[in-house]
Order: sequence, then structure tokens, then C-alpha cells
Amino acid sequence: MRAAVLHGPDDVRVEKTAEPEGEVVVRVAAATACGTDVKMLRHGHRILGAYPSRFGHETAGVRVDTGERVFVGDSLACGGCRPCRAGRPQLCRAMTWVLGGFAELIAAPAAALHAVPDGLDFAGAAMAEPLAACVHAVARADGADAADAAVLGGGTMGLMIARLLVLAGRDVTVCDRHPERRAQAEALGARAVAALGRHELVFEAVGRPEAWRTAVEAAAPGATVVLVGGCPGGSDVALPTGPLHYDELDVRGAYHHSRAEVDRALELLATGAIDWRALAGETVGLDGLAAALRTPTRGEARKLVVDPRL
Ligand SMILES: [Zn+2]
Ligand SMILES: [Zn+2]
Repeated sequence: MRAAVLHGPDDVRVEKTAEPEGEVVVRVAAATACGTDVKMLRHGHRILGAYPSRFGHETAGVRVDTGERVFVGDSLACGGCRPCRAGRPQLCRAMTWVLGGFAELIAAPAAALHAVPDGLDFAGAAMAEPLAACVHAVARADGADAADAAVLGGGTMGLMIARLLVLAGRDVTVCDRHPERRAQAEALGARAVAALGRHELVFEAVGRPEAWRTAVEAAAPGATVVLVGGCPGGSDVALPTGPLHYDELDVRGAYHHSRAEVDRALELLATGAIDWRALAGETVGLDGLAAALRTPTRGEARKLVVDPRL
């Protein structure tokens, strides 16, 4: 079978490889890409393991054994470690990662699979991975019952979070410097601005230290700030101590998702509550993957779709 294989930083090759072995083999119909894949291509990643390695973590396809349409979860929590036992599987200390969606076939533990609801396309189903992380991010703000919410960053994650907040009945402001992304935010029911004022609930969805700081600076007294974007490894951020202390800001990280959040995401995509087509970009085959990941993104926020059958 053919697979995109990483051999080192910025060295990806589409090769004929042995068929993957695992509990279940899935024929990939769509694997969507995100900023993590760009990071994996350029610098490697802590979850990749040693080269040569496979990547692609937003994957949907058909089980070779049963013909069932499935979403392939990118992770399987151990269930036994302290965070798992505390009901926080996204923090599992012994996570099994299931990577390799950029290939004709992927092997996965059966427990990592989710049925794709009828009527949901494979490309839409693949987006359940980032959407589940957004469902989780919004859940991290539980208890912050402010009507007023802001999202810093109008990339695909920021737009998904904004849409979830709109669906929850909040008054949502999205901040992005790109006018095309502001237009996308408005289309899904949010207000869009180029700079934030002060807000009761702030989500950071950029993934750079300066954006984390900007998110904290945009927090009104007593506000909750949820940090969603992963920053480059080893980076630090300096935060203003005044508002953290005197305004009792509640700053929380949000990382990854649980199995139930993936199912919730699939349901939101299947009902159209989240319109995945508004976030889908170009579809390429495996041979077009490297060039597409290397192309700087501009304009609208849209996800690359890889169809290894092309
Ligand atoms: Zn992703
Ligand atoms: Zn665990």
C-alpha cells in the first residue's frame, strides 16, 4: 500500500510500504490536516516516535473486515492511570497514539474506532478530531456562565469554538487580523473584530505565546480564560500579574478530548449544527500532501483534505 512516511525534518516521501498490522485495518477515505501536521512535517513532534514515522491524525474510512464506516480516533487512553481514573482521559499518562491517516490503510485498536453517522461524508467525519478538541475546550469553561465570550484566532479551531459558543446561546466575538476569516466568523453567527476589548470569557486559539498574553489582557475582571492553542515546544509566556491577582482571572488549559467528546463532535457534524463544508478546503491525493502542507495559509481558514484513493 502507499503511505506518506516522514524520514526526518521536512523529509516526507510517498512510498510503497507493508500493510499495517493491528486489531482492525481501515481503508482511509479522508484524512484532514491541521497545524499539528505542519509541525510534524517541519520539526517532528513529541507523539511521533522515531523516524521513519507515519502521520495524519484526523482520519475516516471503511473497516476492511466489516465494511463499516468509521472515524479512527487518534488516541486511546489507558483507563488505569491517575488522570484516567479521575475522568480526565485526555491527560492519560500512557496514551496510545494512532497515527498514519495519510496512507491507503491504517491499523487501529477497535476501541479507538467510532461509527460514522449515516449521511456524514468521510471528510466531515475526519473533522470530528479537531471539533472534539473544541467541544472539550468549551467544556473547560463550564461554570463560567457569562453571556459574553470572545475567541482570539479565526483559524478552523477558533471558528469551530465560536460556532459551539453561538449554539450555546452566547454572544460571541471572534478576533482575527484576516478579513476573510472575520467574514467566516460572521457567517456562523459571531461578531468579528481585528482587536479584542475586554470579555467575560476568552478562548485563545492561536497557539503562540504572544496570543496567550493577549488573551489574558482581554479578560474582564473575574473572567475565565481558556488556552487552547499549543505553543511551540519549550516556549514561555510572561503574563501581567496585576489582573491575574486583583481581577481573579481564572486561566485554564484545554487539551485534546475524550471518547464521548468525539461522539458528540460526530453528531454535531452529522446534524449540520457544525457545517464542515464551510471549513473544508482543497482535496489532494497523497502525492499532493507535502506541497500543500508547505504552502503558507492565507485568506479563509480551511482544512486540507487528503483522499489517498486519488
Ligand atoms: Zn489536528
Ligand atoms: Zn491513562
